[in-house]
Amino acid sequence: AKENGRDHARFFEAHMANEITDRFRLEQEIKDAIGAQQFYLMYQPQMNTLTQSIIGFEALIRWEHPERGFVSPVEFIPLAEESNVICRIGEWVLEQSIAKLHQWRNQELKVLPVAVNISGRHFVSEGFSQHIETLLERYKVPGDLLKIEITEGVFIHDMNQCIEIMEGLKALNVEISVDDFGTGYSSLHYLKKLPLDILKIDKSFVCEIGDHAEGDKICEAVIQLAQNLDLQVIAEGVETAEQASVLNALGCYLHQGYFYARPLPESEVIALLHHELPI
Ligand code: C2E
Ligand code: CA
Ligand code: CA
Ligand code: CA
Repeated sequence: AKENGRDHARFFEAHMANEITDRFRLEQEIKDAIGAQQFYLMYQPQMNTLTQSIIGFEALIRWEHPERGFVSPVEFIPLAEESNVICRIGEWVLEQSIAKLHQWRNQELKVLPVAVNISGRHFVSEGFSQHIETLLERYKVPGDLLKIEITEGVFIHDMNQCIEIMEGLKALNVEISVDDFGTGYSSLHYLKKLPLDILKIDKSFVCEIGDHAEGDKICEAVIQLAQNLDLQVIAEGVETAEQASVLNALGCYLHQGYFYARPLPESEVIALLHHELPI
């Protein structure tokens, strides 16, 4: 599978030479892929280590291309973000996630929130929060079952516009996480100004825990910052028992990572919701 991934990376690189046709082709392919149902979602559990229970899932997109096989989001999302086609992807992921929440509720499962990744361009696009409101109403899903993950890059856009969109989501009870926290525009200024709910410590910091003291220090600083600002904090990319116990000792009890579970197909999510199995 790794070998495959590298082939795909080369495919896109080879076409970089002809950037305009490449972008056009990718755009068209993504639009076709939505229609042809080549995209699907995997769901990675997020854990509360105090209660040892799952608190929700992050939806992660997958693309099964008929000729190229599996194409990683690390390849196609950055390209898609260069044009409005990222909004088409985001709309698909939102509708798919909300439709799944609707189905799970109808199966009388204990339904947990799903967090969706939204790119900056889409987040600040016209009518974003209204569109979410429409979807939640259409599928009769309460807003607190949906969470939105954005990266710090969103905050290069007009601050007042960001606040307005966030207030719109807040009114729907949709919580907002800052993804990859610490890797982007590290202005503490916006953190105080914006109505955020959750900081996600980037996995590049989590993976340094135990390697050297600085690794722990950055996580500690983010956790304290979150506590001071009254935000929840989730550590992503937790892979080892040592990382988990250091994070717990630092007061961070919300974890996501391979140590607990990989991103799972829907069937496994349903099994978990059915039995409420400890993972
Ligand atoms: P992200 O939002 O930071 O998502 C976390 C990534 O880390 C996921 O990779 C997940 O599978 C991976 N991961 C989870 N636990 C571990 C761990 O313990 N160790 C390591 N090394 N990795 C772990 P994935 O699914 O390949 O997605 C990569 C990125 O692609 C995401 O990073 C996100 O930026 C983007 N992406 C994925 N799905 C979507 C989507 O639906 N919409 C948008 N706009 N972006 C998406
Ligand atoms: Ca994310
Ligand atoms: Ca991340
Ligand atoms: Ca990311």
